[in-house]
Amino acid sequence: MEILRTVAELRHWSRQERSRGNTVGLVPTMGALHAGHASLIRAARIRAARDSSGSVAVSIFVNPTQFGPNEDFARYPRSFDADCALAQAEGADVVFAPTVEELYPAGAATFVEVEGLSDRLDGASRPGHFRGVATVVAKLLIAAEPDRAFFGQKDAAQVAVVRRMVADLRLATEIVVCPIVREPDGLALSSRNVYLSGAERAQALVLSRAVRQAEALAASGERHASALIAGVRQTFAAVSEIRTDYIEVVDWATLEPVEIAVPGTLFAVAAYVGPTRLIDNAILP
Ligand code: AMP
Repeated sequence: MEILRTVAELRHWSRQERSRGNTVGLVPTMGALHAGHASLIRAARIRAARDSSGSVAVSIFVNPTQFGPNEDFARYPRSFDADCALAQAEGADVVFAPTVEELYPAGAATFVEVEGLSDRLDGASRPGHFRGVATVVAKLLIAAEPDRAFFGQKDAAQVAVVRRMVADLRLATEIVVCPIVREPDGLALSSRNVYLSGAERAQALVLSRAVRQAEALAASGERHASALIAGVRQTFAAVSEIRTDYIEVVDWATLEPVEIAVPGTLFAVAAYVGPTRLIDNAILP
């Protein structure tokens, strides 16, 4: 498996693959790869096989512009060698691992802003976060021109922002969304789970419990967002160590709150477990 360091190398690789008749799939990540990332790479591999001939690139880049000034950019977990081993084992053909200067050359002044959507859910408590996400994903999609890019439903608001950006910029990449991979006890896998102490790890289960509760309420016929939110708020309140950031029932495309949930409505939560901010969600039945 080859490791590419520059945009020019990625562009050259991708063009070469496509000139050989291969489709190109891209899996953007910030590294510290876990089974959630592995499922995306596997999905990309499976879709590539269905094309009869396809190639898979995994990008590994801790994107500084999506972190706030008091967030964890400097201490974000980095495990490049293990990441490459995992990417290779899951069938990636190349890893794209640029430096910050490569993606943001000196004097870089161009950013992609998805208006409205970027101020909702995680964007409300992380100002500038989705501007950073949209910018780096745009750079990756413009460089690799992939046929498909794979994202996890785990970051559901990110999916909404990326879909809107791809539609607005008329990019030719299909966005494929893969299900949330969880630990056996329900905790959604996240690179940030390594920050959790033993006690916090146990408290963090309230997020997945809340999501299951909302799913069950919706499945039993409760359609009112206010009732879904109220039920889940009690579940959070029972764990006093946790600080709730948001509990929201929104349209997945616009991230606007809805009063009545319909199939496909997004139920999403975010909470601080100690200093660590975790998110979880479900697409309601
Ligand atoms: P990150 O490295 O955290 O930026 O994540 C890279 C991609 O992996 C994003 O599209 C995430 O949504 C996805 N991802 C992260 N955790 C999970 C998970 N537990 N299940 C599925 N996808 C995930």
